[in-house]
Amino acid sequence: MDLPRPLNPLDKSAQYVKGVGPAKFKLLNKLGIKTVRDLLFHFPRRHEDRSNFLPISEIKHSPGEFHTIKGIIRSSSVFKTKTKINIFQLAVSDSTGTVYAVWFNQPYMKKYFKVGDAIILYGKVNQYKRLQINVPEYEIISNDDDPTIHAGRIVPVYPLCENLRQRMLRSAIYSCVDEFSVYIQDYLPEAVRKDQRLMDLKNAISGAHFPKDFQVLKDARHRIVFDEFFSLQAALALKKAHIKLKAKGWPHNIEKELLAYFDKSLPFNLTQAQKNAIDRIKKDMSSIRPMHRLLQGEVGSGKTVVAMHAVVISMQSGWQSVVMAPTEMLAEQHFASFNKFLSQFGVRAGLLKSSLPVKEKSAVKNSIKAGDIDVVVGTHSLIEEDVEFKNLSLVIIDEQHKFGVAQRLKVTKKASNPDVLVMTATPIPRTLALTVYGGLDISIIDELPLGRKPVRTFLFKEAERDEVYDFMRSQVSLGRQVFVVYPLIDETQKPAGDLFEKPLSLKAAAKMYDNFKEKIFPDLRIGIVHGRMNAQDRNTVVQAFRQGLIDILVSTIIIEVGIDMPNASVMVIEHAERFGLSQLHQMRGRIGRSTHQSYCMLLADAKTENSKMRVEAMLETNNGFKIAEYDLKIRGPGDFLGVRQSGLPEFKMANLLTDANILEEARRAAYTVVKSDPELDNFENRLLKQELLRDKYAGNSGDIQG
Ligand code: ADP
Ligand code: MG
Repeated sequence: MDLPRPLNPLDKSAQYVKGVGPAKFKLLNKLGIKTVRDLLFHFPRRHEDRSNFLPISEIKHSPGEFHTIKGIIRSSSVFKTKTKINIFQLAVSDSTGTVYAVWFNQPYMKKYFKVGDAIILYGKVNQYKRLQINVPEYEIISNDDDPTIHAGRIVPVYPLCENLRQRMLRSAIYSCVDEFSVYIQDYLPEAVRKDQRLMDLKNAISGAHFPKDFQVLKDARHRIVFDEFFSLQAALALKKAHIKLKAKGWPHNIEKELLAYFDKSLPFNLTQAQKNAIDRIKKDMSSIRPMHRLLQGEVGSGKTVVAMHAVVISMQSGWQSVVMAPTEMLAEQHFASFNKFLSQFGVRAGLLKSSLPVKEKSAVKNSIKAGDIDVVVGTHSLIEEDVEFKNLSLVIIDEQHKFGVAQRLKVTKKASNPDVLVMTATPIPRTLALTVYGGLDISIIDELPLGRKPVRTFLFKEAERDEVYDFMRSQVSLGRQVFVVYPLIDETQKPAGDLFEKPLSLKAAAKMYDNFKEKIFPDLRIGIVHGRMNAQDRNTVVQAFRQGLIDILVSTIIIEVGIDMPNASVMVIEHAERFGLSQLHQMRGRIGRSTHQSYCMLLADAKTENSKMRVEAMLETNNGFKIAEYDLKIRGPGDFLGVRQSGLPEFKMANLLTDANILEEARRAAYTVVKSDPELDNFENRLLKQELLRDKYAGNSGDIQG
């Protein structure tokens, strides 16, 4: 018989913490705090050192600074100033002098204090006619041995919400720690704790709020950060172990000859890095365990052809594959090149995008369902519910960072345990990769095809515009083509990007297109593409550019990712200060895709600190990893990945930028534990298992994050 399990005291409502009650509980809810556990894990934003009492005679030497003093209340009074401000004041003395604590328009405060009480004050000291501390934090001490909460110690300062007072919350958390921390169970296996020399969890929680000294605070913080990373990594490792040991997917059968023919048909030799990636994919795909692989490679490194190999493997096993791209333009490009390179091997490709007429769309869907299409290329319209496959064995997501977690998941749910290959050119700094893609195997293409020259990047001011035009013309006369990108289509549009940058006049694509055609380059062939064009017109222009019938292509950001025009050698970016750093780098990636020397020309007038940093980073390096590191620094992890969409867990204390070392340690420890006990069935791991099952990470980390 199952007995009902007694409620874990930490799961009790926070309302029952001493000093909380229904009204304050409602306020806590606004901060996301419901249970005792939530309250224990509501960590301070920072701490203030109010532990060193200074003699009152000394604080007058540093007016304007914050100090802590301890003394006896000598007098208490309420009066009005000439300007009708109600003042409540205490005179507090120690053996060296007297200071006046002053509160404005809070006469009721008087009832809290008695002359003769010992008191600690903390606040900004000012020397007016007399020595004063305005609106200090205080703590009345009845007994010298009693612990203090608000002053006379290292004091936590918490994130608040409206109407919730610092003092109230601090007291509540103090009682909460006092009463409930005994119930905290240390779920980390002892071996890990010993090995990492970690503080016990109980002490860490109390130390993170009310530390005895700064060393304790540091150790406590270390332990909690470690835990956050460890739980995440352990959940990822478990999921990975499960996939590797148990999940049943699609064991592809690999015909070496067909693949060899395919390689021979290519107009180039694969780079070693491409070959390595393909080998790994072959291994993954031939196994019955599902592939979960991230293919990361610098812009232009040739990821598409690697993906094509996977598509061929799926096709010749008699199954279907799907390739999801973030823009219609990119999907169209993939569709065209799949047709070009793969149709001779019997691969039937289909294109599914939202702009298709209803009839065509449903025809495509029917063919997919009937199995008449081997590889479906499309945009997010692929995830619509009525897109059904006959036997989908492979999911490829290109430019995966442009999709939200939910979208990526939905497409992988179109089959049971399909092989999944996600591709990105946005190199993710290692700490983020470990956190967001911790469960994926990673292949990196760290080599560009032979003969590529690094793109050279230049910065121009508005006054130097003519030089840019001259240069564009000279490249066109060499037979090259030019991209010019604007942040806007027309001037009625709200500008994208850095809103702190407000240039006086934003040049818009449509207007500049006219200007180029009529005034600046009347003798050249100019084209324009933007997001508000219908798909057919856009396609016509793109084809014309691809065939070399257009010299200069004016565009908006829609060409940012994936577009491959090897003959283009110049990328002019107008108002470069407005674009994000990754965007700039991606746009630069549109050129330098053949053996021609290519040039990226930034027209920018950077005013904010951040936009200056972005432009400088572009001038300094072509290295995608460095760019990503800069970008991460400028934007922070959430924005870097696009916050909620990203699948980035919200850490309460860990910081991906500054806690990278702890992340590495935690990851190693987690993988060691899971390796020796892949189901966490051993006795010493029972609490860890419980914790992970309870933990929110367990819910989402198992799914493909890539
Ligand atoms: P990305 O990795 O940015 O997706 P693509 O797959 O679009 O890059 O490839 C960029 C260009 O390089 C394409 O024109 C492609 O045909 C070409 N390419 C790919 N691999 C090689 C190679 N090994 N040698 C020469 N050119 C290559
Ligand atoms: Mg690509």
